[in-house]
Amino acid sequence: MRYVSTRGQSPSVGFVDAILAGLAPDGGLYVPEAWPSFTQAEIAAFAGRPYAEVAAAVLGKFVDGEIAADLLAEMCAEAYASFTHPAVVPLTQLAPGGFMAELHHGPSLAFKDVAMQLLARLSDHVLGLQKRTQTILCATSGDTGGAAVEAFRGRANTRIVAMFPDGRISEVQRRFMTTAAEDNVRCVAVAGTFDDCQAILKDALSDQSLKQSIGLSAVNSINFARIVAQSVYYFTTGVALGAPHREVAFCVPSGNFGDGFAGYVAKRMGLPIARIIIATNSNDILARAFEEGRYVRGGVAATQSPAMDIQSASNFERLYFEAVRRDGLETGRAFKAFAETGVIDIPPQALATMRETFTGTAVGEGDTSRTIVATLNETGQMIDPHTAVAVAAFNRARGVTEPVIILSTAHAAKFPEAVHAATGETPATPRKALHLAGKAERYDRLPADADVIKTYVRAFAEG
Ligand SMILES: *Cc1c(COP(=O)(O)O)cnc(C)c1O
Repeated sequence: MRYVSTRGQSPSVGFVDAILAGLAPDGGLYVPEAWPSFTQAEIAAFAGRPYAEVAAAVLGKFVDGEIAADLLAEMCAEAYASFTHPAVVPLTQLAPGGFMAELHHGPSLAFKDVAMQLLARLSDHVLGLQKRTQTILCATSGDTGGAAVEAFRGRANTRIVAMFPDGRISEVQRRFMTTAAEDNVRCVAVAGTFDDCQAILKDALSDQSLKQSIGLSAVNSINFARIVAQSVYYFTTGVALGAPHREVAFCVPSGNFGDGFAGYVAKRMGLPIARIIIATNSNDILARAFEEGRYVRGGVAATQSPAMDIQSASNFERLYFEAVRRDGLETGRAFKAFAETGVIDIPPQALATMRETFTGTAVGEGDTSRTIVATLNETGQMIDPHTAVAVAAFNRARGVTEPVIILSTAHAAKFPEAVHAATGETPATPRKALHLAGKAERYDRLPADADVIKTYVRAFAEG
C-alpha cells in the first residue's frame, strides 16, 4: 500500500514513512493510493470480537505487511489494555434510536487516547528498526498533551516536550502531563496563549536544521495512523447495532475533523454508514461548509468545549481531495488560497459528494449546557461539554431512520467546572485520575519565545 499527498506533488511513500513524516513535503496530507475494503462477511465477523482484534484487522489493511502481523496484533493488544473498560469502547443507549460510544476510558480520559496509545507503539517500534530517535514537540490546549505524554512516556526511541499555556488549562489536564516522572518527558508552561504555543510549534517544525539534527516531529491529527486507529470504533459500534445487515449513522463532535474523516474511511472500507452528522460548537466552520458550500474561516471563540475551538479543520483537506475526485492540483490550489484568503468555495459537484455522507450542525453554549442537564435528568448519565454538543445535534436531527451512534469524546470529570456550572453537581473523579492529585509535578516555565524554546528542546534532545 502506497500513500500519496492530497496536493499531488510529492512522491508516494509506504505506511511507515507516511506516519513518521506527518505532513508530506508539498504541504499536503497523506492518504492511501486506493481505499482497502472488507467484504460484508468480514465485517459481519467483527461482531463480538475483542476490540484489539478488530483494530489489528483494520490497521493490517493499511500497514500492508510493513509491520509483521503478530507484532501489530501485540501492539494493539497492549494499546487497548491501557483502557479501564473491558469493552474498550462500550456502547450505551441514551434515547430511542440514539446510542453513545464511550471513547473516554483511556489513561487520560479523552478519545485522543484511542489513537495515541497505538501511534506511540507503532512509531517507537519503527524508529527502533531504523535505529533512529525522535523528539516530539506538542502544543496543547488541554487534551492532546495528556494523551501524548501518557502514550510516549518511557518509550526507548522517543522524547516528548509538551507545551501548554501557563494558567490556561485545568488542573486535571495539567497534572496528566506534569506528573510523568520518566526521563523522556519534559513539560513547559509557556507564558502566553494556546495560539502562542502553536505558533512556536510551527516555527520549530519549519526550522530545517533543528528538524534534521534532532529528528523533530509532531503528533497532531494530520498523522494518518491516528485516523486509521479512529476508524476502528466505527466498525465495532456499527456492527454491535446490526451492520452490515442494516445501515447505521454517526454523530461526531468535531474540531479538526480527524474523527469525522475516520468515519468516512470506515464507510469507504465497506461499513454501511448512511450519514455522519458533524456537530460543532459556535466555531462552526465545518457546519457551515456542509450547509452552505463555503469553507470560511472566522474568529476563534472560547467555549466550554475547548478541544473544538478551531477555525481551520486540517483533515477537511483529505475529504476535499476525495470530493474533487482526487485532483491533487485542485486541492493544493484551494488550500494554498485558503491559507491566504481564509475562503474556499466548494465546487457544486464536490459539495454534492460530501453531502452524500455529511451534514453539519452548530450548537451554541446555552444549548450545550441545557443538554448536559437534560441528559443527566433523563438518563442519569453525566456527559462532558464536547459530548453534549453532539447529543444536542442528535436531538435536532430530523428524518434519520438508522440507529445513531453519538461519539462521547471526553469523560465528564475532565471538564468538572463546565459540568458543575450546568448541573450544580461535580462529576466523580475516576479512580485512575485520583492518584494524580498526590503526585509531584515537574515542569519548566518559559517565555512565549520560539528561540528560547527551540534552544530548550535542542538541549533536551542532545543531553
Ligand atoms: C480533539 C477532541 C475533539 C475533536 O476531534 P477532531 O478529531 O479534532 O474533530 C472532540 N472532543 C474532544 C474531547 C477532543 O479532545
